[in-house]
Amino acid sequence: MQFDDFDLHASILANVAKLGYETPTPIQREAIPHVKQRRDVMGLAQTGTGKTAAFLLPIIDRFLREPKPLRGSARCLVVAPTRELAEQIAQSAKDYTAGMRMRTATVYGGVSLSPQAANLRRGADILVACPGRLLDHLNQGNANLSSVEVLVLDEADHMFDMGFLPDIRKILAKLPAERQTLLFSATMPESIRGLAGETLKDPALVKI
Ligand code: AMP
Repeated sequence: MQFDDFDLHASILANVAKLGYETPTPIQREAIPHVKQRRDVMGLAQTGTGKTAAFLLPIIDRFLREPKPLRGSARCLVVAPTRELAEQIAQSAKDYTAGMRMRTATVYGGVSLSPQAANLRRGADILVACPGRLLDHLNQGNANLSSVEVLVLDEADHMFDMGFLPDIRKILAKLPAERQTLLFSATMPESIRGLAGETLKDPALVKI
């Protein structure tokens, strides 16, 4: 199987080729068709398996096919437990959208709020955020999640272990109920099963 087989926009295939990706990884083979069909997905996969492209490529494809003005809001929200992971995901998003009219924004704690706030007010096709700092911005009125079309919860088991579940619930309450949700976790303890039951509708289970 090749990336060409997914029927992704030509500019995505060109960027993936530029990065030297030759064949899709197992999680990409399994998840991309479901994400492209706009199904909710429960993905059991570790970081390092290519899972970032597994969710970002079909999301970018959707946004290229249905461009919309941002008007200060976010179209895709990716929630990740750590600054390092958020930065990695944002860098991948920038690599995959190189040369496209597509904005990526990143918010995490430990740095000043105001440059992030200014960036958020411009809106983002892909907003990558750590839970605590995103809530700060939401409480200050800097972020608008009312038109989020796709939510990705990445490394959900780590977010649970780090005590972010209450923050995630507050973030979920700000999102439209009508959306696509993708939940990735390396393990499936009871806590993540519960979160999946609350947030996913008829999910495709992808396990590698
Ligand atoms: P991730 O699990 O998303 O953090 O990806 C792990 C690493 O694999 C990253 O450096 C990606 O750039 C790289 N990668 C993702 N998909 C592929 C692919 N199909 N072929 C080669 N490398 C890939």
